[in-house]
Amino acid sequence: MPSFDASPDSAALCPPLPLGEGLGVRASGVRAQEAEPSFIDRWRELEWDDIGMQIRAKTARDVERALAAPRRTLQDFMALISPAAEPFLPRMAELAERLTRQRFGNTVGFYVPLYLSNLCANDCSYCGFSMSNRLKRKTLNAEEIERECLALKARGFDSVLLVTGEHETKVGMDYFREHLPRIRRHFSTLAMEVQPLSQAEYAELKTLGLDAVMVYQETYHAPAYARHHLRGNKQDIEWRLATPDRLGRAGVDKIGLGALIGLSPDWRADSYFVAEHLAWMERHHWQSRYSLSFPRLRPCTGGLEPEVTMSDRQLVQLICAWRLFSPTLELSLSTRESPAFRNGALRLGITQMSAESRTQPGGYAEGDKEELEQFAIHDARPLGEVAAAVRQAGLQPVFKDWEPFLGR
Ligand code: SF4
Repeated sequence: MPSFDASPDSAALCPPLPLGEGLGVRASGVRAQEAEPSFIDRWRELEWDDIGMQIRAKTARDVERALAAPRRTLQDFMALISPAAEPFLPRMAELAERLTRQRFGNTVGFYVPLYLSNLCANDCSYCGFSMSNRLKRKTLNAEEIERECLALKARGFDSVLLVTGEHETKVGMDYFREHLPRIRRHFSTLAMEVQPLSQAEYAELKTLGLDAVMVYQETYHAPAYARHHLRGNKQDIEWRLATPDRLGRAGVDKIGLGALIGLSPDWRADSYFVAEHLAWMERHHWQSRYSLSFPRLRPCTGGLEPEVTMSDRQLVQLICAWRLFSPTLELSLSTRESPAFRNGALRLGITQMSAESRTQPGGYAEGDKEELEQFAIHDARPLGEVAAAVRQAGLQPVFKDWEPFLGR
């Protein structure tokens, strides 16, 4: 699952598992029916083309109404991401900044992706880790993980996002059980971006120290999803769509949602589907917190061209629209974006940033080995430089998110 930091996902060889009622456990080769309601129900009701047309039909008046609303609805979000909202960008930016400071103060949290493995049993057209790509595969062992952790701690990081390809047999629950507790000892916050798991597995990982899971849908457009996921378990769009529900039921503290911009022909429609997904999750799993990423497709081994290009201005519009739609949502901006864009977007609504990311296993202790990368990053500045830019914008870089003894 491609880290929206940079990130990848799922495995082809799924061993038969006992079917746990209500646990959303996946049986070998067959998707288990979810016993409880999931976002799939809402997703099936939504018409992609109709959503796209509704967004394009929004007028300046709809945007004015959305800007004036004390609490914004999904219809307001549509207006704010529509072409009609483009002339309102300065007002949107001003409001977005004010809301962000009210809720999050003058802070930006830092995290770093730690790539544990580039093994993957899927073929995704946009990812360098795809199983059919001929690149050297590597899965870190205990010693190598320890070296990576120490290298990250020495740089000053305290919040880590564990990333793997999706290979359930070689980098599955046994691997996570063995290594999570050790990694946890080094960091105050532990997030994961790996293959979608069952509710019971997420609940178990929580007991080993897991705080957050990022599970990006890539695209909510079924034909584009099928076009870009060519082999492996990840082809099962509904298993993925229901993953955030399984996380919510497992009581995971923070859940990350998002779509990969450029995979489908309409970034606005995809973003609206993400908003529907967020609204569903907040209604059904209100105990969890949510974070969001809006990655734009980056070059990778195998090189896929985006179906649509989103301009910097449009990405700023989207960031502001998200903040106006949800003042409490964490918004994360990764090293996929350029230094200039990240510096400029800092104050608008961004609450989390990565820095110095390496998208290959072993990259922090051993240095760059380009042939192992998932995709090319755009902002290669060292952490100190990014933190200095944050301070220059009048904000405080924060490395420690939470004390585990406070009871999360
Ligand atoms: S190829 Fe694997 S690692 Fe890459 S996006 Fe697909 S599932 Fe994730």
